[in-house]
Amino acid sequence: SAKGRGKNRYAFYSEEMNTKSHEKITMEASLRKALEHEEFRLYYQPQVDIKTGEIKGVEALIRWQHPERGLVSPAEFIPLAEETGLILQIDEWVLHTAVRDNKRWQALGLPAIRVAVNLSPQQFSNERLVEIVSKTLEESGLDPKYLELEITETMTMDVEHTIPKLKQLHDLGVQISIDDFGTGYSSLNYLKKFSIDRLKIDQSFVRDIISDRNDADIVGTIIAMAHNLGLEVIAEGVEEKDQLRFLQYQKCNEVQGYYFCRPIPSSELEQNFTKLREEFINKY
Ligand code: C2E
Ligand code: MG
Ligand code: MG
Ligand code: MG
Repeated sequence: SAKGRGKNRYAFYSEEMNTKSHEKITMEASLRKALEHEEFRLYYQPQVDIKTGEIKGVEALIRWQHPERGLVSPAEFIPLAEETGLILQIDEWVLHTAVRDNKRWQALGLPAIRVAVNLSPQQFSNERLVEIVSKTLEESGLDPKYLELEITETMTMDVEHTIPKLKQLHDLGVQISIDDFGTGYSSLNYLKKFSIDRLKIDQSFVRDIISDRNDADIVGTIIAMAHNLGLEVIAEGVEEKDQLRFLQYQKCNEVQGYYFCRPIPSSELEQNFTKLREEFINKY
């Protein structure tokens, strides 16, 4: 009967839901363990000056070195970390580690570069954020201008809170960028009221920049507008030389993407910095 089928269907869904929440609970427990056992790793992806090929900064990107599953990408655990609130501790670990690593690179005599850290929405609205950032910088001795905080457009929608928050952070001397720019709701009106330094054009626009006239126009417009507002622009997801050429032509400031380098561990960046630098300069 229909009733019977309905019942079965209900049973099926609830069983699926149980499996899902069971998976979540297991995953949450292992995320907690990962924090305790220091299973997270930071990889760094170079950000390159579009005119000279010099490395100007790196973006810190988290991975989970899982004892059984190997290297797990952030897409697989950041959403649950956000849901459970564990993201606050993870973001704090990332901030500490990135700042400490950058200080070590400088101590080793490498050219001074920025390190960019991604903030979750929870961390951005955390009342303690300014204190956490300033304390981390103080403890490390890193000059604040070598730290960059990445937020996304959607985090800025509560404009009344965003304006003073960005100003407080910026007053610490750190740099601030808007990540995945172009994918969210963006009001140009507010952009100029935000204490920010840089827009990061989302890779979805860069991907088809050569074949899609629309995307090319959007990217050109974003760059011109950003420059009018006194902001720098970095393009994400640059994989090909033609994309680089187009971005150069449009006077984009920096590029980041597989064309130059995948995200690499700190040790690799340290050991190969000079080699990478020469390689990038030769890629022009
Ligand atoms: P995102 O901040 O926009 O980072 C850029 C993503 O693009 C990274 O993926 C990077 O590896 C990838 N990418 C770089 N160059 C290329 C390219 O040429 N082609 C393509 N197809 N992809 C490229 P990843 O490392 O998997 O990170 C994904 C997202 O996870 C990040 O997007 C960011 O939103 C989040 N995330 C990563 N690390 C952290 C972290 O420490 N804290 C927080 N809260 N979120 C993080
Ligand atoms: Mg980012
Ligand atoms: Mg991005
Ligand atoms: Mg993203």
